[in-house]
Amino acid sequence: MTFESLGLHASIIKALTESGYTAPTGVQAQAIPAAIEGRDMMVSSQTGSGKTAAFMLPALHKFASEGDQPQTGKTPNQEAQSARSRGDRPRFKPAQPKMLVLTPTRELALQVTTSTDKYGAFMKRVKAVSILGGMPYPKQMQLLAKNPEILVATPGRLIDHMESGKIDFSQLQILVLDEADRMLDMGFIDDIEKIVAATPEGRQTMLFSATLDGMVGNMAKRITKDALIIQI
Ligand code: AMP
Repeated sequence: MTFESLGLHASIIKALTESGYTAPTGVQAQAIPAAIEGRDMMVSSQTGSGKTAAFMLPALHKFASEGDQPQTGKTPNQEAQSARSRGDRPRFKPAQPKMLVLTPTRELALQVTTSTDKYGAFMKRVKAVSILGGMPYPKQMQLLAKNPEILVATPGRLIDHMESGKIDFSQLQILVLDEADRMLDMGFIDDIEKIVAATPEGRQTMLFSATLDGMVGNMAKRITKDALIIQI
């Protein structure tokens, strides 16, 4: 099995080759084709299995196929300039991400963002930013003002930004819960439910967890539709 045979966009194959990846791991071989078709999934897999690429490569493939362009065709700076020339009062325009990855910890969020930058290195425009507890608000406001396609976030801090109107999920296409069992162990269930409720019904949902038993399995069933179950 090769990454080419999974049907990924040429710019992604180039990044994988440069990263020294020669073949997909088991979870990637199973998840990527189904994710490209837009299927929801629940995946039981461990850290080290290559799960980050299993959800990020098909998402980047989708964005590359859409043409890497912001939907208005204008950059946020151009938007702000035309707003000023219309005499509008300057105000913060909420970020409208296409993809949200929820992680239990800052460290995992940063790893996911770093991997995304690597896999998307040859795409024209795809920006991933981390929204984390403990990071200064002004810095996060700057990151959100760039209207990134991909947000990688820990649940608590994300809720703060949602409630203050900094993020609008109406354009969200893909929701990923990474290490969902750990997020529940850490008591994030209410935050996760609130975040999921703010996203469109028609989104694609992918949940990764060490186990799919008990509480995490119940949540997975509630938030996915006709999900493919992958056990590695
Ligand atoms: P993850 O399970 O996503 O944390 O990935 C574990 C490690 O495996 C990371 O260092 C990845 O860069 C690496 N990795 C992921 N997929 C592949 C692959 N297909 N070939 C080689 N290394 C990989």
